[in-house]
Order: sequence, then C-alpha cells, then structure tokens
Amino acid sequence: MTDLVKVRDLSVTYPRPRRSGGPLHAVRGVDLTMRRGETVGLVGESGSGKSTIGSALLGLVPAADGTITFDGADITRASRADRRLLARRMQVVFQDPYGSMNPAHTVADTLAESLRYNLALPAEEIQKRVLRALDDVGLPPGAARRYPAAFSGGQRQRIAIARALVMEPDFIVCDEAVSALDLSVQAQVLNLLARLKETRGLSYLFISHDLAVVRYLSDSIVVLYAGRVVERGPAARVAESPAHPYTRALLAAAPVPDPVVQLGRRTERLRAVAAVAATPARPGTGCDFAARCPFAQEICRTTRPELVDREDGVAVACHRYDQITAQAA
Ligand code: ADP
Ligand code: MG
Repeated sequence: MTDLVKVRDLSVTYPRPRRSGGPLHAVRGVDLTMRRGETVGLVGESGSGKSTIGSALLGLVPAADGTITFDGADITRASRADRRLLARRMQVVFQDPYGSMNPAHTVADTLAESLRYNLALPAEEIQKRVLRALDDVGLPPGAARRYPAAFSGGQRQRIAIARALVMEPDFIVCDEAVSALDLSVQAQVLNLLARLKETRGLSYLFISHDLAVVRYLSDSIVVLYAGRVVERGPAARVAESPAHPYTRALLAAAPVPDPVVQLGRRTERLRAVAAVAATPARPGTGCDFAARCPFAQEICRTTRPELVDREDGVAVACHRYDQITAQAA
C-alpha cells in the first residue's frame, strides 16, 4: 500500500534581513512517513519548526528543498487548482479557532464556507454534511444557528474540528489543537479526536509541544529540535523510554500524576537547564543540542550526528546513544 504522506529531505527557509543573520532555516532535511489511518506525533519546543512542517504539507509555505508526496502524488509544488482539490482531503485544526472564524457568521455558515468554495454541492447536501459533522463532534443541531462567541473554548475547538470534517478529509493536521484548553477539556477533545480517527478512518499529523499529549494519540512520534529530527520511533518507545537527551528533557518537562516521579523529572530538567549555562554554544558546527546537553562531549560540539536507525524502529541522532542507553539500562 502506498504511504499517505511521504516527506523527503524537506527544508523550509524564511527570508530575514542580512543584519539579523540572513535566511532563517526553520526546517532542515526532515523525513516523515505516514501510512493511511496512522497518526504521527510531531513534538518539540516552541520554535522547533513543527508548524512550519504542517504549513508546508498544506501548501501554505513553499519548500526550499525536498519533496512532499500525498497518496502517491508529488504535491511539493502543487498549483492553486491542485491545492483546491487537495483541500477535500487535507484539512487543518489550529490552536486558536476563534482567530480563524468570522464572528458575524453562524456556525452553519462557518462550516459551509469551505464546502461552497471548494465543492459545488447542492444546498441540501451542504446542510446534511454540516449537521452530520456537528453530530460527530458532539454538538446539538441547534448549534448551527448560533455564533462562535456563544461557545466555550472547548466547544469552539469542536466547531473547528467539524469544519475540517465537512470536507470528509482523510488527513488532518492538528496544530496545537488542544494546547489552549484546560486539562479536563483537553482530555475530552483528545478522546473525540481518537474516536473520529476510528470512525472516519482519519490520519493525523498531531503537533504539540507536550510529549504526553502527543503520546496519547500517536502511533509514532517524531521529535524535532531546531528544525531537525533528533529522534523518531513507535510512540510508546519514544515517550516512555526516550533515547535522545533532548527527548528525555521533554519527558522531564511533561507533568506526571505521580509526585515522586514528577520530582525526579524536575531534578533532571533542572540539571539539563543548568548545563546550558555551563557549555558554550558554537553555532553551525556539531549537534544543535550540544550546548544544552548534559551528556555532551567534544565530538558533539564539532561533528553533527546523523539520524541513525537503532533497534525497534527507533532512529536517534546522538553520538552518545550507546553510553546513554547503557547507563539507563
Ligand atoms: P513551532 O511550531 O515548533 O513553534 P514554527 O514552525 O512556528 O515552530 O517556527 C520555526 C521557526 O521559524 C521559528 O524560529 C519561527 O520564529 C520562524 N518562523 C515561523 N513562521 C515564520 C514566518 N512566517 N516568517 C518568518 N519566520 C517564521
Ligand atoms: Mg507552532
């Protein structure tokens, strides 16, 4: 079976004035593969390039290098017309749906907008799809006549999901889709996304800075640091026994219910933070994470580590992989 999404050696650059260092390399040589029905989690701290990868997939920013394939077709430089066709299949849910909703439009209009723009469907079919999508996200039919301001944050996120669903896509980019919500509401929306994945056969590129959130929905996880993949593998393996020192720091930052475990992780995190001050950064050479890494040695500062396949389908870009895993065992 062909992969649904295949990203090869993707680089994305944002123009920047020369006095601030020239072009910003937001994404550098990223590979990513998704099978149909699979959810890939993309995790990394703010500024690591997660949204840029999502935007490149959706055609919102151009690829400077590399290729993006969707269901066997190269869409790296898809035309505007092709993008319109692709919108039926690729949708997006952002962190702040309110920002992308017109407050003067009812929920029905908000949901119908892209249907009208991208598909020439009869009014009854539009109405049918809108009501079905609302039902799918757990909102009553009456919600269609109301305005976005009448809803809570969690409900608005459900409306945003419904807006993606009306197109009947097979792929949705969820970019920090639950990050602004309270923990209990977050759990409800995550459950909803998990259920839709099953009932609608969806694949998600699930983007979040929170490893615990990513873990919940993902089959595999890709960890991004400074625009590069530093670790990739089955979700349970990456989230529960991370190998890369950066992933370990992300895990340490994720809140856990057990206070003793939490304290241990806090100590590990503080140690990682203290290491930042101790190690001088030499940008451009070596591992991007070296200056912050408690395990860094001379080679880490001079030679960039390749992303190397290890065991169990895990790939890690780290010179100290063997020592760190031996120490953890
Ligand atoms: P993330 O989603 O992981 O927080 P982003 O992909 O938004 O990261 O950003 C990656 C880098 O690219 C950051 O340094 C950010 O400041 C920069 N960046 C993102 N969008 C733009 C843009 N439209 N123009 C210029 N720089 C951008
Ligand atoms: Mg982002």
